[in-house]
Amino acid sequence: MEKIRTTAIVLAAGQGKRMNSAVQKQYLLIDQKPVLYYSLKAFEESIIDDIVLVTGNAEIEFCQKEIVEKYGIGKVRIVTAGGKERYHSVACGISAISWKCDYVFIHDGARPFVSRDIIERVFRNVQETSACVVGMPVKDTIKLADQSGYVESTPDRSLVWQIQTPQVFEKKLIATAYEKLISEEKSLKEANISITDDAMAVEYFMHIPIKLVEGSYTNIKITTPEDLKIAEIFLALQGLKR
Ligand code: C5P
Repeated sequence: MEKIRTTAIVLAAGQGKRMNSAVQKQYLLIDQKPVLYYSLKAFEESIIDDIVLVTGNAEIEFCQKEIVEKYGIGKVRIVTAGGKERYHSVACGISAISWKCDYVFIHDGARPFVSRDIIERVFRNVQETSACVVGMPVKDTIKLADQSGYVESTPDRSLVWQIQTPQVFEKKLIATAYEKLISEEKSLKEANISITDDAMAVEYFMHIPIKLVEGSYTNIKITTPEDLKIAEIFLALQGLKR
């Protein structure tokens, strides 16, 4: 039987405005290495075959030289430009795949702590279900608010998950979902529908079940300055475990 081939799309084309920093968050340093390095390294040392790195147009050369070459991330086949919104960047990443690919792992480059365990767990699951997202059950009670800022309802906490990445799909499935999303972009905007993650594109356009797979409470997204401090602590703890 032919080997199953997997590609990771690592997204690093965001502006990261909530970080209030001149440097985009994916290039800030944790223990002297850029945030983006850590997830690339995790995919490099995993079952993933190929990596597409999606960055801002102006950062392609910097990423190629100062991250991919400097740290020897040999699985990166292409560094390509992303777009205005995250979903544009994902679409750019998918169209850059010109090689055999059965499953696509879409990952936020701003999540440095994706681990080999998580990658392997989601890979095992996606081969059974064709669409999986990594997440964790919430620890806090969640309230849904109405437009005026009052509580509308309280979902059963045991059924509420906080979603992370990677989000992993059969290549054909996710490519079709994103083709539809891009071609219907205007009407979605008019209807005030924002597709905020990859699973939502699949839910909305493909109507197939999406399995939730356990990630980790340390698989955080670096968004605001305090997240960098937390990331330093997680990294130090990992060092202690080794
Ligand atoms: O902005 P947010 O934190 O949701 O971004 C999640 C990930 O998507 C980040 O790694 C960011 O660099 C990436 N992104 C992107 N292109 C955009 C917006 C976000 O690649 N236009």
